[in-house]
Amino acid sequence: MVPPPGPRYGVLGWPVGHSRSPRMMRAAGLGRYQRLPVAPAVFADTVRALGAAGFHGANVTIPHKEAALALATTATGAAREIGAANTLTFGEDGSIAAENTDAPGLMAALGRVPASALVLGAGGSAKAVIWALTRAGTDVAVWNRTPERAQGLGARVVSTAVAAEVLVNCTSVGLSDLSNPTNPSNPFKELPLDADSLGEYATVVDLVYRAGGTALVAEAERRGVSIIDGVEILVRQGALSFSLWSGEPAPLDAMRAAARDDRPENDRG
Ligand code: NAP
Repeated sequence: MVPPPGPRYGVLGWPVGHSRSPRMMRAAGLGRYQRLPVAPAVFADTVRALGAAGFHGANVTIPHKEAALALATTATGAAREIGAANTLTFGEDGSIAAENTDAPGLMAALGRVPASALVLGAGGSAKAVIWALTRAGTDVAVWNRTPERAQGLGARVVSTAVAAEVLVNCTSVGLSDLSNPTNPSNPFKELPLDADSLGEYATVVDLVYRAGGTALVAEAERRGVSIIDGVEILVRQGALSFSLWSGEPAPLDAMRAAARDDRPENDRG
């Protein structure tokens, strides 16, 4: 007899075609994990129907993290304080539980609590990063292109790059030029620091990931700085979502290998 299919999972985004979560989560053992491209106008109705359609969980990415928290029936303190959810769990009773694994994922990737950090950006991911670091006891400064948006996030707002143990790029700078992996755009035109000043940080974290890597990570590496790239951040938040849904430790190596596979999915053996 054919066993019944397992629970369904997916990643909600708009657009979501670029997401590496499906290949990473399938490699972890969630065989029925799929892309869920959902436009903002139909997000709430679609998500409320997922449980009845056989979904046990969903990851949430741009631009839906705040809407995901808003429609959840329960949410952890972390998700509420950050104001965004990236992981939803659907109960058999129709309930939707919200969690944010971006914040603990960053701390897991760092593997330590830095004394100080400079965060670039004040969008959704920066909120989770600042929340995680300040809560752990790190002295956090934040720079943003639009300084007003950086107010009220619980970190010291700065108008230029300041010295710190860790630099975290939470802007989308470096994401562009996705079609040309050999020519990452120059991030230093849009950020408050140049390539040489990267050497002043012990660790550089770049949330952005793209085929071929980002110039920020490449320049930091060239200067002997320890780096954590956006793929590792993706893996760590995904690992925590996996454990939340399965109750088991995540197979990090398998997830990392799948997430680092730059080939289009049709080309993979
Ligand atoms: P978001 O909420 O849209 O915020 C975007 C941020 O980037 C804002 O601070 C914005 O500044 C800044 N920005 C955009 N264009 C800029 C430019 N040309 N110059 C300077 N600053 C610029 O996005 P998000 O959710 O925080 O995500 C940010 C990036 O992190 C995205 O590339 C996303 O893919 C990546 N990310 C990766 C992971 C992962 O797992 N690796 C997880 C989450 C996010 P203003 O306020 O001035 O507009």
